[in-house]
Amino acid sequence: MTETYCGHCGRELTDGSHEDCRRALALEPPRYCAGCRRRMIVQVHPMGWSARCSVHGVLTAG
Ligand SMILES: [Zn+2]
Ligand SMILES: [Zn+2]
Repeated sequence: MTETYCGHCGRELTDGSHEDCRRALALEPPRYCAGCRRRMIVQVHPMGWSARCSVHGVLTAG
């Protein structure tokens, strides 16, 4: 998957600075799929989180 969109704010990665977003994404799950900008279905659990895009599948961390 090519990362086109910011997982935090949903804007294109080439659109401005996403420094704050990167910082936020180190702490919390992404809200948007980086490939298609769909809203991720996020589940937080004790070991971390998982975020699912209906097209691109599941991302996990933790
Ligand atoms: Zn951003
Ligand atoms: Zn996607």
